[in-house]
Amino acid sequence: MNALQAGAGTADAGQTRPVGRSGRPRVVIVGAGFGGLMAAKTLADAKADVTIVDKRNYHLFQPLLYQVATAALSPAQIAAPIRSILRDQSNVTVRLGRVSGVDAAAKQVELGSERLSYDWLILATGARHAYFGHDEWEAFAPGLKKIEDATAIRRRILMAFEEAENMAAGAERSRLLNFVIVGGGPTGVEMAGAIAELAKRALASDFRAIDPRLARIILVEAGPRLLPPFDPSLSEEARRSLEQLGVEVRLGVGVTECGGEGVSVGVERIESRTIVWAAGVKASPAGAWLGAETDRAGRVKVQLDLSVPGHPDIFVIGDVAHATGGDGRPLPGVAPVAKQQGLYVADILIARACAKPASPFKYRDFGSLATIGRKRAVAQLGRLKLSGFLAWILWSCAHIYFLIGFRNRLAVVMNWAWNYVTFQRGTRLITGISGSRVDDMEKPVDQTPPVPMRDVA
Ligand SMILES: Cc1cc2nc3c(=O)[nH]c(=O)nc-3n(C[C@H](O)[C@H](O)[C@H](O)COP(=O)(O)OP(=O)(O)OC[C@H]3O[C@@H](n4cnc5c(N)ncnc54)[C@H](O)[C@@H]3O)c2cc1C
Repeated sequence: MNALQAGAGTADAGQTRPVGRSGRPRVVIVGAGFGGLMAAKTLADAKADVTIVDKRNYHLFQPLLYQVATAALSPAQIAAPIRSILRDQSNVTVRLGRVSGVDAAAKQVELGSERLSYDWLILATGARHAYFGHDEWEAFAPGLKKIEDATAIRRRILMAFEEAENMAAGAERSRLLNFVIVGGGPTGVEMAGAIAELAKRALASDFRAIDPRLARIILVEAGPRLLPPFDPSLSEEARRSLEQLGVEVRLGVGVTECGGEGVSVGVERIESRTIVWAAGVKASPAGAWLGAETDRAGRVKVQLDLSVPGHPDIFVIGDVAHATGGDGRPLPGVAPVAKQQGLYVADILIARACAKPASPFKYRDFGSLATIGRKRAVAQLGRLKLSGFLAWILWSCAHIYFLIGFRNRLAVVMNWAWNYVTFQRGTRLITGISGSRVDDMEKPVDQTPPVPMRDVA
């Protein structure tokens, strides 16, 4: 039995064991993403008062966001309420709110006008996309991080086809039917493949004035190959598979200009009304809250036990942390890193409380997966390299397994099966339209006042 499990009063060597008002240590976790949630779950049996704070009331499965953006899944299928996930953990309190700072000297987290006291703090606030110093591009080239981003991109993609249908052939119609994805990492590759299948299969017969199959989908990557973390042979396989789906791949060219009518890449100008940004990340401002050293992406440089130098009671994990692997290189911003770090930090708190020395965090890399369209993927599992349908089966199983909630898993499997057989997309809804010609369509033509329901015979 350890001190967190034993509760207050257990001896503590070397470090003063913090004790809250209830007589138990208070652990505050900021962020209920992959890292924070894993830490909270691991502390389930600990005699500690755990408070998890998130600015959203749901945990989001970001790896499937691109499927919401391309009308394959609906938002509720890839998200689960944090309260319901942690419902059975009586030692956890969930707080909805945006943390705006940390007072490390007072050991308090700033949550609106309130101050949350902690004995141990875990910051797991993730990252957002970055525009390499061109934040003004965001208005024209949204990135994919939140559900709102995904539904906004879905709206842009579907509206582009609708507007093209209403337009005479010409430069503007072509511009509407050009889709540019910037960034050839897993998200860019997955987006490009999904938009290509949407245009060339799901929408193919639905329009009369335009032929959606003629849409151009252009994937731009500044580096020499797609999927840089994968073996070059799989990068090449991904490029080939995308080209078979009709995607134009541009390698070794960076975006130099981005606006409402298109992008400039190298010497080429690509006219487009729909640009999706899938390049670069910027960490959330946890480093600024702590005044801690950060890397170029704003990630906090943590120690081997993931604590912040000078603050043994504060841990930073997941996408907002800069931790290094065995080869001295920074660990990638992926879900398994965040989850393993959440597990490790929760264990370390339990170990610290009974004065056990903790061994440094060590990431176990089980491999990487990326999908291309609805039945192809690439997978790298140690030395094993897979591509094609088998890799896609593996990708599908892994995503279903890690998705939270039986209902979500079932709904996603059914959607994929339907999509696989019919090529159709179940969630082709255009929502949140404003400031477009569709507004006029929505105005009622008949201005007769509506008849109250009770008057209808
Ligand atoms: C489109 C996309 C696709 C991806 N695909 C894959 C993939 O296929 N495989 C893979 O392994 N990884 C993938 N990733 C990366 C993976 O999702 C991240 O590495 C992982 O989510 C990091 O977990 P985290 O806990 O650090 O942060 P997150 O999961 O981002 O969670 C951070 C949480 O903190 C909350 N938060 C942030 N700021 C505050 C604040 N000030 N106050 C309160 N709460 C706050 C947020 O609301 C959020 O819930 C993808 C990411 C994206 C965006």
